[in-house]
Amino acid sequence: MTRILTGIQASGRPHLGNILGAILPAIKLSQKPDTESFLFIADLHSMTTVKNAQTLADNTRAVASAWLACGFDADTNFFYRQSRLAGYHTELLWYLSCQTPYPMLANAHSFKDKSDRLSDVNAGLFTYPVLQAADIVLYKANFVPVGKDQKQHLEMSKDIAAAFNRTFGDILVLPEPLIDESVMVIPGTDGSKMSKSYNNYIDIFLPEKQLLKSIKSIISDSTPLEEPKNPDNDITFKLFSLIAEQADIDTMRDNYLRGGYGYGHAKQALFELIWKRFEKERELFNYYMEDKDALEKKLKAGEEKAGEIARQTITEVRSVLGFN
Ligand code: ATP
Ligand code: MG
Repeated sequence: MTRILTGIQASGRPHLGNILGAILPAIKLSQKPDTESFLFIADLHSMTTVKNAQTLADNTRAVASAWLACGFDADTNFFYRQSRLAGYHTELLWYLSCQTPYPMLANAHSFKDKSDRLSDVNAGLFTYPVLQAADIVLYKANFVPVGKDQKQHLEMSKDIAAAFNRTFGDILVLPEPLIDESVMVIPGTDGSKMSKSYNNYIDIFLPEKQLLKSIKSIISDSTPLEEPKNPDNDITFKLFSLIAEQADIDTMRDNYLRGGYGYGHAKQALFELIWKRFEKERELFNYYMEDKDALEKKLKAGEEKAGEIARQTITEVRSVLGFN
């Protein structure tokens, strides 16, 4: 049995980047035979940026609803909120912190990136990769499907687990990243990585008008309507190519190169594509957002199941540490 694990932060509403880069690939993997999938909402991680309890709860609900809306089978897998099993996650975080070299964390790209952008650079942001390592090894996950932006974090998780094993014996499973090279880092409306915390994201679950508005906010250059445009430099085209059928991508490329086709036309086409492609998902998402009990029931059951596994690992870890 292979164990696959993926977490998504509750730092905002789940967006197109999360869905194409993490949620859909993880769901596909969860449908393979002989695999067990652990999908969780990383609400403890989100506390590095979200400081309001209600916002955190709302985001958590949105992320959980997105998993279910995109087709994750919570009954045959493991589906939980990290915060509800916080005792296990944070206990292991401490044990692993004591095996983690300080410079490894200081050199993390995402820390540097976030500390440049954010005004609140807290210690949680710094130790984030260690909590992530704990999240993974707690469930003895073999594979962690992630977007390219998470590659370095995954290497750290593996190094941290290996350091623990060298000192205390081979008890932690070393996780491997699963990076689908065909899924790139999806750009946001401003051209940098689409992120919940950068406010540059496209929320595919928005109502029609708001979705259109957010797609219209994608930046583009100032080439006039009648002139040819370079599709490879354009964010709208990139996003369109990630979802559309090949024939439609080719047509749009030709339109760009020919001229007389404006960015506004491309944005309208992208909007129509997203609106249609995620119609079923939008409906299910709204159902789980509205029916809190239905969602809560799935999560509670998942937390019970996942808690069993976490407890077993913590018992083994305590035992090699001499804490039993
Ligand atoms: P935050 O801004 O809080 O870091 P995020 O949008 O980057 O949020 P995460 O919760 O950090 O989302 O990541 C969840 C998963 O989504 C990870 O597997 C990550 O690789 C993937 N992911 C996030 N953003 C993108 C993106 N722009 N393109 C592809 N995959 C992405
Ligand atoms: Mg991120």
